[in-house]
Amino acid sequence: MQKIKSLLEAQREFATQGKCERYLAKVRWQNGVTCPRCGSKDVTYMDSRNKWQCSCRYQFSVTAGTIFHKTHVGLPRWMVAVWLMCHSPKGVSSKQLQRTLGVTYKTAWYMAKRIRRAMRHDVFEDLLCGIIEVDDAVVRASGDGTPSGHVKFEGKNVLGVAERGGLLRMFTLEDLKAKSIKRVIAKNLGAVQEIYSDAASRLFFLAEFGHHQSVAHAYDEYVLGDAHVNTIENAWSLFKRGLIGIYHHVSAKCLQEYLDEFAFRYSHRHEKPRLMDLVLASC
Ligand SMILES: [Zn+2]
Repeated sequence: MQKIKSLLEAQREFATQGKCERYLAKVRWQNGVTCPRCGSKDVTYMDSRNKWQCSCRYQFSVTAGTIFHKTHVGLPRWMVAVWLMCHSPKGVSSKQLQRTLGVTYKTAWYMAKRIRRAMRHDVFEDLLCGIIEVDDAVVRASGDGTPSGHVKFEGKNVLGVAERGGLLRMFTLEDLKAKSIKRVIAKNLGAVQEIYSDAASRLFFLAEFGHHQSVAHAYDEYVLGDAHVNTIENAWSLFKRGLIGIYHHVSAKCLQEYLDEFAFRYSHRHEKPRLMDLVLASC
C-alpha cells in the first residue's frame, strides 16, 4: 500500500486492531473478499461480529488462515513486527522485538519464527533468469544440542544463486559436491543468458544451464569483464555481519530460515513499499 518510512510511522499506521484489520484485508483480498474455505466471493459482512459469512455458510475473520489467527498478541504488534523484519537490512533479533513490542522474549521469538516462515524461498516459485551468479560459502553456525552456556561453532556449507540486480536465494547444503549443487541449481534456474561462478572444477557443470564463465578466486582473479560474483559476495558479507552483530549465533538447524529471511529482503530491496505486503499476503 503506501510507503511507511519509519518505526514511528509504522506504530502510528498500525495503532489499533481496526486499522490493522483494514490494512490486512486490503492486502489479502486485492480482488475482493474471498472465502478461505471454498474460494467464493459470494460473502456478506456481518457488522455485529466483524466477520464475513460465505454462501457455503463458513464464517471467517480477516485473520482466518493466517499466522495471526487466534494468537494472544493482537494485530498491532504483529504488523509492527512484520514491518521491522522487512525493513532492517541485517535483520532484527528477538531481543530487539521484545523491547520494541513490549512482549516477553518467548513471544518475540515465536513471532519472528512465524514471520520468517512467510519469507521462505519455496513460497515464491519464480525461477531466476538472465545473468546469474553462483557462489558458495561457509557460514559459522552453532551446533545442535550443545549444553547451555557453551556454544560450539561449526562451519555450514551454503550455496547462493543470484540474478544480477534481482532475486537471490541461499541454501544450506550437506556438502559442496557437484551433484548436490546441481540439484539446487536445476530447481531454481529459468531462462539463463550468462552464468558466472568461481573456477572450481565442481562448478564446470554450470555450462549445461547457460553460457558459463568463471573467475579464478584461487589466483586472486575476481573480475573478468562482466564475469564476477560480486552480487553474491556482497550478500554474503551483509548476511555474515547480521549474523555476528544482530543474532550473535544461529543454530545449524535454523540456518536455512535465516538465509530465507535475508534472501527475501535482499531480493526485494528495490521495492521496499511492497515488501511488507508480500509478506502479509503469504502469512
Ligand atoms: Zn465459502
